Amino acid sequence: MEGGKVEIFDTTLRDGEQTPGLSFPLAEKLEIARELDQLGVDVIEAGFPASSKEEMECVEEIVRAVETPVCGLARIKERDLKPAFDSGVEVVHVFASTSEIQMKKSMKMTRDEVLEQSVDIVSVVKEAGKTCLYSPMDASRTEEDYLLEISRAVEEAGADMINIPDTVGVALPDQVRGMVTAVNNEVEIPLSVHCHDDYGLAVASSIAGVRGGAKQVQVTINGLGERAGNASLEETVMNVERMDTFHTGIEKEGLFKASKLVERLSGIQLPPTKPVVGRNAFSHESGIHAAGMVEDKSTFEPELMNPETVGHRRRFIVGKHAGRQGLEKVLSEAGLEPNESEINQILKKVKSISSNGKKLSEADLYAIAETELGRPTGKELVELDQVFVMTGDNATPTATITAKVEGEERTESGNGVGPIDAVFSAMKSIIGEKKQIEISEFRIDAITGGSDAVANVVVALEDERGTAAEARGTGDDIVIASVEALLNAVNLLARKDDAERDISKKVKNLETER
Ligand code: MN
Repeated sequence: MEGGKVEIFDTTLRDGEQTPGLSFPLAEKLEIARELDQLGVDVIEAGFPASSKEEMECVEEIVRAVETPVCGLARIKERDLKPAFDSGVEVVHVFASTSEIQMKKSMKMTRDEVLEQSVDIVSVVKEAGKTCLYSPMDASRTEEDYLLEISRAVEEAGADMINIPDTVGVALPDQVRGMVTAVNNEVEIPLSVHCHDDYGLAVASSIAGVRGGAKQVQVTINGLGERAGNASLEETVMNVERMDTFHTGIEKEGLFKASKLVERLSGIQLPPTKPVVGRNAFSHESGIHAAGMVEDKSTFEPELMNPETVGHRRRFIVGKHAGRQGLEKVLSEAGLEPNESEINQILKKVKSISSNGKKLSEADLYAIAETELGRPTGKELVELDQVFVMTGDNATPTATITAKVEGEERTESGNGVGPIDAVFSAMKSIIGEKKQIEISEFRIDAITGGSDAVANVVVALEDERGTAAEARGTGDDIVIASVEALLNAVNLLARKDDAERDISKKVKNLETER
């Protein structure tokens, strides 16, 4: 195997947008495209220009906004080409079904017609001076002889690259590798693979394709895409990078940020256990793991796969499985330095609470620790004076918050889709330039039944530095409980950032003393 560079073809804005229920407005598409540009992908597939005038204009805007070559999709129909050319894309991705079932039932064309028209369209694309990528759609269910025949034909017509799509996600990695090898033996032009995750093998199959000689992988951020989605960019990139002789041109440190952006804009939340970018991807709770990690990171984090590489954060979680080292680490992040007997006391309390099945929020932990240490809560970033919320079926929900921010009184209002959203927006204005917060989790659990139920609200936040904080608010008014949870989380976030700044200051002082 020769190795070398593997091109990353990102289709978040095309196949990714075909995720059921998803539609990115132009502004969001541009934001994602710019992020992909920074990430260093090789091609951005921006859309399907022939699908509508708006889509064409959208692709055109993206072409203008980024330096990365942009690709537009087209069927083997003459009328798809003008919009593609008009959009100004550098690469035209021509596709046609080649499996018997899709040719018959979806395209309603014979195999000869598909071949002939594919050749025609590829020729026109080449005459227009564009780079042409050709996809025999549903390649994994295409008869091999026909796949090879059409591959030879489009190469002859001038195609620059052939993409082998596992459109319905049914191929096993071995099969993808086999197809790539077979087509590679037949044509000179480079190959690409496009795998779907219906059986959870999209990334594995993409890597197998690379092993078989594919020079490009088609992926999406967070694995968005039709049905179960496509191979995820972040997982595929990390796997390519760990194979000795292969590499991508991706700025890996930007992977987490790009994933977060797409998660927020798409509204499609990642499971915490998602590799590379999930909330728990680098979280350690159990005593044994955390102790090992504090000693040497490679004990429980494999080489390359660490938060520094991908711009994520390592987190130590304190809960039922916690041990002393993990606890010490977590408390030090908020500037608390308990002695040994204090740690034992705190740990005892934490374990007794979490063994009862209660999930301990971070803020709860710090509250326990502070009680145990007998320390008064330090000065908070935000001190609440007053909240006023108005909502109704004929009014825009509005919240007005009066609070002291570092001692200075401020009043701000915000609107939202509901009262809680309005509160969040007012709170964002209150903290203003002090911090940029994003809500990564918001949960309401009723503790008791009935309409006078006590609500338990959990809010998790993240700021622009990637620092995360989670806190809880409890009360019989769910809006006020949400305000309390939000406030606690904001203040915890501020303390963690302060503690981190203190630590780095100490380190700097030590360095200058030396
Ligand atoms: Mn697809």
